[in-house]
Amino acid sequence: MTAEEMKNYRVSDYRRILQKGDISPRELVKIFLERCSQWEPFINAFLHLDAERVLRQAEEMEKFPPADEELPQLFGIPVAVKDNICVSGIPTTCGSHILENYVSPYEATVVQRLRRAGAIIFGKTNLDQFAMGSSTESSVFGATRNPLDLSRVPGGSSGGSAAAVASLEVPLAIGSDTGGSVRQPAAFCGVVGVRPTYGRVSRYGVVSFASSLDQVGPLSRFVSDAALLAQVLSGEDPLDSTCAPYPPFSTSDIPSYEETRKMRLGIPREYFSSGVDRSISEEVASAVEKLAKEGFDVIEISLPHTDFALEAYYLVALAEASSNLARFDGVLYGKRAQGVKTLMEMYHRTRIEGFGNEVKRRIMLGTYALSSGYYDEFYLKGMKVRTLVRQDFEKAYEACDILLTPSSPCFPFKLGEKISDPYQMYLTDILTVPSAMAGLPSLSLNCANRDGLPVGLQVIAGPFREDRMFGLALFLEELLSVEPPIPAVPDVKEGDDE
Ligand code: GLN
Repeated sequence: MTAEEMKNYRVSDYRRILQKGDISPRELVKIFLERCSQWEPFINAFLHLDAERVLRQAEEMEKFPPADEELPQLFGIPVAVKDNICVSGIPTTCGSHILENYVSPYEATVVQRLRRAGAIIFGKTNLDQFAMGSSTESSVFGATRNPLDLSRVPGGSSGGSAAAVASLEVPLAIGSDTGGSVRQPAAFCGVVGVRPTYGRVSRYGVVSFASSLDQVGPLSRFVSDAALLAQVLSGEDPLDSTCAPYPPFSTSDIPSYEETRKMRLGIPREYFSSGVDRSISEEVASAVEKLAKEGFDVIEISLPHTDFALEAYYLVALAEASSNLARFDGVLYGKRAQGVKTLMEMYHRTRIEGFGNEVKRRIMLGTYALSSGYYDEFYLKGMKVRTLVRQDFEKAYEACDILLTPSSPCFPFKLGEKISDPYQMYLTDILTVPSAMAGLPSLSLNCANRDGLPVGLQVIAGPFREDRMFGLALFLEELLSVEPPIPAVPDVKEGDDE
């Protein structure tokens, strides 16, 4: 069997063939390892991939129960993990020199949950340094490329996870989403990406970027798999006090198609404005029209503070980042500068040598926003705007159950196109940042392909209403029947211009 033959496999299909014994966990991971050896020279989605370790995990699975016993939910399924999430005994680099040689001594709660569900932790995926970026170009280990077009970026910061799923190096991956880093790369690579409600999923063992915004979320080829992964990942965690004491999300809460059809859909007009590529707005509008034809109640609404969300995000996120990244001082973790005479000099050199430019920029801006005399003017103001953004959503959900928008204002852009202009890069987040600021669950799925490039549609639900979000996304997936990507393995040699 080949990966291509499994392009339309859902987790339930892998389970079926594993359960029947048509394939062993070892044979299954070998197929994906083979796929990685074909694709990695072209896309660089993985920072760490240890075939031996993967095969050992698969062998463990083979000791597993007889065929008549119920297998755990993700039994034998390879899941790739973004490299800012700790997996015990292997590196967690965050794509940065400062953590280059850091090996995690413990495991993130989300990784433990994946293991408990029988998943095979397949490797660590590339990201923008410390998850700060929208293109996966700021990793010190080289950019990841979009498997749908190698001259383009896969989005970011979870670009490695999105590219790995889109090329079917793995069927599932996890990423982290602070302002869009799961949904935007999912949109750029034509796959499904989910940001759960803030507090749904534990952040324990996830390297903090902006603690009031960070959430771990699934990437997959099908909505049902993302929902299953969300179920596995979610739930209270005594090790993370910001993780809500609610029962985990359960796929059994997802409404049926009949119930879903009764949902009122809100279309926020600000998300279809001039900053959004015309073709993208058109494709999303056409998907909405199809839903209307199915009998959905569609209403136009307004989220008036949308335009201010991005500026506020870049104050709040950077302020929190400057504080979180203070721990990387050469004493506790990772790199320590050598040949220095004093402690101050050691701190100084370690951070100068260890952090990349974008990280330094954010630490400086964030520190400024928090400094005495400026706190009220910047950070506090950012937080006030955040409240207004959240209130916009609260008001909207009085009139509708779900919001539908484009996920990204632009198509995947060329490598190098925006990297030297941070503001242009930040603008790619305008449509994913507001729901992150409001802590809402949001999902991106591919609603169309234009000239071979995917168009992401974003489904945003009220807090802890993942059930509605997945219900509508499943309906849409079926209605639109846009197949997940299965790009052909490139035949150009590594280093060719493509
Ligand atoms: N691109 C956004 C940023 O640079 C979002 C990053 C993220 O969600 N991790 O901050």
